[in-house]
Amino acid sequence: MKLTLKPGREKSLLRRHPWVFASALQTADEEPASGSTVDLLAPNGQFLARAAYSPHSQIRARVWTFKDESVDREFFRRKIKRAIELRQTSKVEGHTDAYRLIHSESDGIPGIVVDLYGDILVLQSSTAGSEFWKQTIAELLIEETGISNIYERSDADVRELEGLKPNTGILRGTPDTKLHITENGLRFHVDIQHGHKTGFYLDQRESRQRVGELAKDRDVLNCFCYTGGFSINALANGAKSVLSVDSSADALALLEENIAINNLPADRHTTLEGDVFQLLRKFRDEARSFDLIILDPPKFAPTAAHAEKASRAYKDINLLAFKLLRPGGILVTFSCSGGVDAALFQKIVASAALDAGMEATIIEHLSQGIDHPVSLHFPEGTYLKGLVCIKG
Ligand code: SAH
Repeated sequence: MKLTLKPGREKSLLRRHPWVFASALQTADEEPASGSTVDLLAPNGQFLARAAYSPHSQIRARVWTFKDESVDREFFRRKIKRAIELRQTSKVEGHTDAYRLIHSESDGIPGIVVDLYGDILVLQSSTAGSEFWKQTIAELLIEETGISNIYERSDADVRELEGLKPNTGILRGTPDTKLHITENGLRFHVDIQHGHKTGFYLDQRESRQRVGELAKDRDVLNCFCYTGGFSINALANGAKSVLSVDSSADALALLEENIAINNLPADRHTTLEGDVFQLLRKFRDEARSFDLIILDPPKFAPTAAHAEKASRAYKDINLLAFKLLRPGGILVTFSCSGGVDAALFQKIVASAALDAGMEATIIEHLSQGIDHPVSLHFPEGTYLKGLVCIKG
């Protein structure tokens, strides 16, 4: 089917941005089927792109290709091969046996995330178009990677916006759902069935290693610690003490196991289950202090519409963290919110320091790992940003 854009609304496609909003399309005589491939035309009839149709989403079409080429099995094979090559070029396997193999729009397959954990792939499909091609993509993944075990974790909230129900379970083969990975020489238990995202926050690999390097002889507070990525790196690199806080008891149980399998000194580590917003206030009231604080909260602003509320939450925790830091202490603070860009995040952290009455200096900008590439035409692909600040 062919869909025509309203006058002036073809501009973003000409810039190769892959999203077409419902409001940009002229009314068609009949509605394409969910996930089916449509041609997008300029008002003058010129071919612009071939895309997947999402009848329930505000993002009504997501581009597969800007070329006049067939979108078929071989098309997806080319995309998958290219994604594999990119990871070979970036040499991510030199650091870990778990990494993101397909990163949705940035690898040219909107709606599909595939994370590789040793000999298991975890696939997440989140759009009508990716659902349409899911089984084909699963077959191609097996052919191109030689890995025969695929577990599906299509349970992200965004599926609701596409009118899709959650879908989880074995897609191919016989994947173990509890496994362990080795990242930068450290081992981690991963539960691909119950864990967050596909089981592990693969995007923080490089930052976890950096925190390790900064942690020696320091008293560390790791907020929103999940299964202890930052804590394990800090302990392995000689932190004096590490206090890990998260609201998930399951994540904290895995953290304890991760300390054990890495033979790290458990007597230097404390686990605390609770709400970071409350605990930071409690620590402030108790006049506690730390040399290194990590703030890696969940996504407060999935889209720009949530930016204001999210900004308040980021400012709150960053302000409290600045107060808890000793002079010369280090704050490693992140935002993974698509709705808060790097410039806004830096402003929020600056205003937190100001209100805390502190001077602080940024010594480093951090971002998502090398296996989470960003298409130049899809800046939304840069979602994770971090700042390393020294107090005083
Ligand atoms: N730094 C981690 C990933 C953090 S993900 C890593 O490297 O693996 C965010 C974590 O915040 C999740 O584990 C979630 O359980 C936790 N969380 C969400 N809201 C919270 C809150 N209000 N207080 C404490 N933990 C919270």
